[in-house]
Amino acid sequence: SPVMASEKEAALTATPSDAPTIFDKIISKEIPSTVVYEDDKVLAFRDITPQGPVHILLIPKVRDGLTGLSKAEERHIDILGRLLYTAKLVAKQEGLDEGFRIVINDGPQGCQSVHHIHVHLIGGRQMNWPPG
Ligand code: 5GP
Repeated sequence: SPVMASEKEAALTATPSDAPTIFDKIISKEIPSTVVYEDDKVLAFRDITPQGPVHILLIPKVRDGLTGLSKAEERHIDILGRLLYTAKLVAKQEGLDEGFRIVINDGPQGCQSVHHIHVHLIGGRQMNWPPG
């Protein structure tokens, strides 16, 4: 596939749908990734384009319609909590004792490019606010 000019461009051209995403192949290990945490419900692996010394994506192994946070239903409450709690565990595991940033991009304006919900855990450097 063509190299995207930017993450923003990828987000703006992404088709929000229930089609399989690259994360399915990461879950099945068809596409290699550096897994830092895994249990029966959650997979955490290093982002291929890290935005800091530590940049990890946490995803549910079963998407169950949760293409993005804006599609969340009551049945997703447990997995949503589990993703955030696991992010805290992984932050500790990665030694991010001075703090970290959690991001969930949603939709084109939120720069979401992969339609399988994911929590970004970014750390290891001073973050700025407001975000870009
Ligand atoms: P989004 O922009 O949708 O919030 O985040 C998608 C993230 O997935 C991006 O940070 C991007 O770098 C990451 N990503 C996309 N494809 C791959 C891949 O094949 N492997 C890994 N490890 N990360 C990926």
